[in-house]
Amino acid sequence: MITRFAPSPTGLLHLGHAYSLARGVAAVAGGGELRLRIDDLDTTRCRPEFVAALEEDLDWLGVSFAGPVLVESQRAAVYEEALERLRGAGLLYPCFCTRKDIEAALAAPHGAAGGRYPGTCRDLPDEPERRATQPHSWRLDHEKALARVGALPSWQDHDGSVHLSTRADLDDAILARKDAPAAYHLACVLDDAAQGVTLVTRSADLAGATPIQRLLQQLLELPEPAYLHHPIVVGADGRRLAKRDRAPTLQQLRADGVEGPALLAALMDERLPLGYRLVDPT
Ligand code: GLU
Repeated sequence: MITRFAPSPTGLLHLGHAYSLARGVAAVAGGGELRLRIDDLDTTRCRPEFVAALEEDLDWLGVSFAGPVLVESQRAAVYEEALERLRGAGLLYPCFCTRKDIEAALAAPHGAAGGRYPGTCRDLPDEPERRATQPHSWRLDHEKALARVGALPSWQDHDGSVHLSTRADLDDAILARKDAPAAYHLACVLDDAAQGVTLVTRSADLAGATPIQRLLQQLLELPEPAYLHHPIVVGADGRRLAKRDRAPTLQQLRADGVEGPALLAALMDERLPLGYRLVDPT
């Protein structure tokens, strides 16, 4: 069993991250490895100081990781090769839609499921000149992709239950954009495979990403991991913890005298500090 913790260094880690990590640690407690990946492709929001801060937090929690740390910003060549392969198979098309739309899809795996792409650029004739001069992203034509793999993607939970996706779970996801070598879904599947991940541990608000990621895994002939979509930590107000809400950071808890390893052990037992609880958003 190999699982991973994949924070985005766009802010300080909070209790929700520590809970996710605790689920990963628990998953491999009976034998297996926990690996670390830094999801730093969003250059507008990721900062090196948050990488340094998260390393400190992880030390404090007393977690150690197996193998080298995978840093997404260093893997442009791998992403480009996969894009080339999908492009060569006729499964991608350039999309010239607004920057705002593209940024949202790249930046926020938690928010990307919201609006479906209306398909504006799907059937445009190929215009190499326009591509050479106008910023664009690359989208997966999910209808063509489905035709190629022959069936709707399914995925398996850590407990063995199998889920079948529906057409409504899929969209023409952005896989790359001009100023970033890959968007979330593509980087995620390639990196999970590169790290030998057999169990994807992540919060249930990312469960919507799984159908498209399974589809990509099939197209790119990557191994199929199992999935552990865990509940999310909410505060007394019932709202999910987010960096922007001034959620109590691990740094703050440390300053308050909390012991990292004790906190991690408590979270592994689903015991949360007073005022917090778990909610399943699915
Ligand atoms: N980097 C993502 C996050 O911090 C996690 C991605 C994943 O686990 O697939 O929410």
